[in-house]
Amino acid sequence: MKQYLKHDPWLIIEDNFHRPYNEITESVMSLGNGRMGQRGNFEETFTGKSLQGNYVAGVYYPDKTRVGWWKNGYPEYFAKVLNAANWIGITINIDYETLDLNTCEVREFRRVLNMQEGYLERSFIATLKSGRELEVYTKRFCSIVDDEAGAIRYSLKPLNFDAKITIEPYIDGSIRNRDSNYDETFWDEVRKETGYGEAFIELRTRKTGFHVCTGMCVEIEQDGGRVDFQSQPIRQEKYVANRLTLDCRQGQETVIYKYAVNLSSLNYDTDRIVAETRKYLQRITAKGFDRMLIEQRQAWADKWKVNDITIEGDAAAQQGIRFCIFQLNQTYTGEDERLNIGPKGFTGEKYGGSTYWDTEAYCLPFYLATADQKVSRNLLLYRYKHLEKAIENAKKLGFKAGAALYPMVTMNGEECHNEWEITFEEIHRNGAIAYAIYDYVRYTGDEMYLVDYGLEVLIAISRFWSQRVNWSEAKQQYVMLGVTGPNEYENNVNNNWYTNYLAAWTLRYTVETVNRVKELNLAKFNELCDRIHFREEKEIATAKHIVENIHLPYDENRRVFLQQESFLDKELMPVSEIPKGQRPLNQHWSWDRILRSCFIKQADVLQGIYFFEDEFDRETLQRNFDFYEPMTVHESSLSPCVHSVLASSLGLTEKAYEMYLRTARLDLDDYNNDTEDGCHITSMAGSWLAVVKGFGGFRIRDNQVVLNPYCPANWQSLAFKLRFRGALLEVKVTQTDVTVENFSDKTADIELFGESFGLEGKSRKSVPRPTVNDLTESE
Ligand code: BGC
Repeated sequence: MKQYLKHDPWLIIEDNFHRPYNEITESVMSLGNGRMGQRGNFEETFTGKSLQGNYVAGVYYPDKTRVGWWKNGYPEYFAKVLNAANWIGITINIDYETLDLNTCEVREFRRVLNMQEGYLERSFIATLKSGRELEVYTKRFCSIVDDEAGAIRYSLKPLNFDAKITIEPYIDGSIRNRDSNYDETFWDEVRKETGYGEAFIELRTRKTGFHVCTGMCVEIEQDGGRVDFQSQPIRQEKYVANRLTLDCRQGQETVIYKYAVNLSSLNYDTDRIVAETRKYLQRITAKGFDRMLIEQRQAWADKWKVNDITIEGDAAAQQGIRFCIFQLNQTYTGEDERLNIGPKGFTGEKYGGSTYWDTEAYCLPFYLATADQKVSRNLLLYRYKHLEKAIENAKKLGFKAGAALYPMVTMNGEECHNEWEITFEEIHRNGAIAYAIYDYVRYTGDEMYLVDYGLEVLIAISRFWSQRVNWSEAKQQYVMLGVTGPNEYENNVNNNWYTNYLAAWTLRYTVETVNRVKELNLAKFNELCDRIHFREEKEIATAKHIVENIHLPYDENRRVFLQQESFLDKELMPVSEIPKGQRPLNQHWSWDRILRSCFIKQADVLQGIYFFEDEFDRETLQRNFDFYEPMTVHESSLSPCVHSVLASSLGLTEKAYEMYLRTARLDLDDYNNDTEDGCHITSMAGSWLAVVKGFGGFRIRDNQVVLNPYCPANWQSLAFKLRFRGALLEVKVTQTDVTVENFSDKTADIELFGESFGLEGKSRKSVPRPTVNDLTESE
């Protein structure tokens, strides 16, 4: 854990340059706009530890699979999120010295991410080897209004010298992915152009053939006014620049404006991509940096108006949740249905692909409650469109008759994960996709989704489960052999409780949905049956038989569900017995030792109880929580949030708060010692869940917003916003009262502490808050 970033409600502040942590800060200070994203790298040369990263949404490279021993069924490639041309670079030379914070003395350094307005700024004074002192102030953003563009204002001031300073704003396409399997280059150059104060480079990805044109336009200001400059165009392999030499006097400020655009062939014709980039650049340059920044502020203000969570009395907690909301908004806007939410978003390369089960299990509830309904619908449609590929995937593994196995990781619907214990065994992801359909319909009431798309997906997933289980003569039950549950610190286990429960639940929900769709639109149901050869009677009978006879491992003594068969053969001990300095386990122990230990990477049985909480009573939750929580190391970012929500349900407010800080500040404090690879974007939605579902006690039940909120002991208040079927609500909780306000014109059906009422548009209701003890006793 590292706590070098300052607490502030709206800013992430690095005071003084923390050189050894630079890659962590670069991840944390990433900027994005849903279409492109840029790590918090420096504009000027930096020869120290740094991961230069610019990522363009949807553009990937199928990196040939690299494994020690090939297994039939492995995917041919792993889709790498591509590090694209560096658009921020500006080299600064003073005579023969290059400004490089790795080689000069730095003072008054400050790097600040402004989450309220969506920009990154940095200032410092550098003393070069020659003794020359230069004051620098930079500001940049990825525009969420012009969402293929970024803009930089880079200001220089010589403090103790006059000199000719050579400034070289550039675009560098010779970038490589650090995580490349064979150390290959993923990009080929197609074209480059340079002109007065402008340069363009068009690159094409190998194999996938995506084109990305990155263009820049430069303007210079001195003494507060625009100046003309001589620019020497530079064209080298995969590199374009303008070299400008300016007379700079002591104390005089020189400002470089660099506007940049990344256009990809996902959205533009390759024939016209350079021309379109030029046109785009002309448009934003004419608008100008200041205007663009005003628009950026406004657009972020609009987002915060419906998304913000305010916490009074705890700066660390406030900063943590805003950081999560900010990064989620930077990663996915829901405007383009081809895109999804990668675990690292635009903040790093690790993980590749763009879609994991994280989207359905963690992110969907965030977008359901904070964005327009079409955003979550798009997330579901994304999977609907990949159904054919999921069927192919299952077929490749030997499944028949329209069974679908969705990929563990994907860019285009194809599986690209290649560790057998995950690719073939971590099949619970299929259930999360079914669960998301349920969650969406429960939230929105959009049952027609089931008619048009949902049922088809559910039938295909259910066909998979029906074939993946087998009848055990010994047990006289259905069993599921050789799986990996969410806890990846166990592989190839039999009867993972979570997977078996989820499979049976999916079958049950599919049967219910068949009946519902028949009621809603019989003609469409019949059409679907014909199209996918659904043999209703037989398939439903099989599903019901499995549901009634699935094996769910259980320990009669402890009365807890068993994570998997033979979990109790392990030497059980709490995490507190792990010797100091050996965590995270995955960075200290051999894999063999991890697999044999009882330690749990992430919520597994508890993930199931969290999803299906209405199916278990409080005592069951308590027993399972008491059993599993002490053995959980939370080395997946997706874990503490689930434990936090459950701890809140149990009235374990201190535990809930501890887990909340761990999830919300995971990257800010680098809890798992891996933020340098990028931020954990998908788990940020989990942090939101810890607040809204956990502290807020928010659920949707029977078409009502259900609220049982409390305010952690050290907070003065907590307020969060919710969108629900056309209404926009704010729930404000203090230590004594709860106020629900409806900002919209639509009445919202609410159940607050067990009392139901319709809250009319533009009205509010306040009630005294029962104590946590009252709440838990009344259950
Ligand atoms: C977790 C998975 C998750 C993946 C991407 C892994 O460490 O164990 O559950 O899907 O990260 O976030």
